[in-house]
Amino acid sequence: MPVSVLDPERYRGDFAILSVSSPRGKPLVYLDNAATTQRPRAVIQAIVDTYEHHYANVHRGIHWLSDRTTDLYEQARDAVQRLIGAERREEVIFTRGTTESINLVARSWGEAFLRPGDEILLTEMEHHANIVPWHQAAARTGAKVRFIPITDEGVLDLSSLDQLLSARTKMVAVTAVSNVLGTVNPLESIITKAKSVGATVLVDAAQSVPHLPLDVSRLGADFVAFSGHKMLGPTGVGVLWGRAELLDSMPPFLGGGSMIRRVTLEGFEPAELPSKFEAGTPPIVPAIGLDAAIEYLDAIGLPAIHQHELALTRHAHERFAELGGVRLLGPAPEQKSGVVSFVVEGVHPHDVAQLLDGEGIAIRAGHHCAMPLHKRLGIVASSRASFYLYNTFADVDHLVDAVAQTQRRLRRK
Ligand code: PMP
Repeated sequence: MPVSVLDPERYRGDFAILSVSSPRGKPLVYLDNAATTQRPRAVIQAIVDTYEHHYANVHRGIHWLSDRTTDLYEQARDAVQRLIGAERREEVIFTRGTTESINLVARSWGEAFLRPGDEILLTEMEHHANIVPWHQAAARTGAKVRFIPITDEGVLDLSSLDQLLSARTKMVAVTAVSNVLGTVNPLESIITKAKSVGATVLVDAAQSVPHLPLDVSRLGADFVAFSGHKMLGPTGVGVLWGRAELLDSMPPFLGGGSMIRRVTLEGFEPAELPSKFEAGTPPIVPAIGLDAAIEYLDAIGLPAIHQHELALTRHAHERFAELGGVRLLGPAPEQKSGVVSFVVEGVHPHDVAQLLDGEGIAIRAGHHCAMPLHKRLGIVASSRASFYLYNTFADVDHLVDAVAQTQRRLRRK
């Protein structure tokens, strides 16, 4: 067996769901972490404790219970600030998730800064959440969306970046890690070049913050977006980090309670950051759950988690290569994180996922919200296994063995 810096057996007991069996009595092998991760008991307990002991609405109470909930909600903001190295706590905006965070920027920043003829530069490997809001912003403002191509190997083709970037480029929005290829993108060089033409930079960190250290004080980007549910936290909470001066210069995204300083019959005056972008009752309990998730991840350490996922990815690549008849998408493990997408020759990815499901192995099949990427790869769908800290080498072996069984079964037919 290969070795890893992290022993997942130390943590698996914290995740009750990993002990459930499938309806056919097979133990769960959960390899769909890029879609959503599972929650440890500490996170579930934080949610239960909040509802049982500390729950009221935030920022509007004149009673002690609301003060207590507000403290916990704001402590969650501090935890996010520490996690990503943000200089100021008010730069951390709680949203419902990456999708909402990117929509906030595309709508609000787009309205303030995009003009006809401006260009928005994305990449061919973006998730739809980092494409569609920009198509919408382009339609509203007359700006144009362009794309950094990828190579056949599944890495960004940066040879064309100098040509693509110009004074017209107002936004460069790029994923830190591809949710299909697993490719870890060279953010620093992209950001340096984007900045040299004066562009604003958004990083879709949905697949990176949960797995790799990211320090916004050094990154040089202007916006970073990620989701709680992909990092052991609850659904319904995500983060937009943005530079305070930029957020200050943008109009509010949603209007309503909490985001105002004053409302009159004639108009309104927005609140200061971060309230300005947190209209209505925010995701109070999900944010408190996210705080517990961050504490759990901190205790293990993101560098160890990344190394562990890399070891699993390496093992999967080696085993699939030995097996044959499987096209692996994306580059060599060294350039990847814990995502292994593949196509079994002659078998539809949905059939692969269904046959694996019969063995209790949960993977994802389809276009993974990346249709342009699949088109570029010349396929309509793929199967995807994605790892987290609680996955084992045995999980990978189950996956490859089940794929081998699928090949044998379908060959016999
Ligand atoms: N970007 C990437 C790279 C993703 O993997 C995902 C989730 N699959 C998203 C954005 C959207 O995240 P959410 O659904 O949590 O808003």
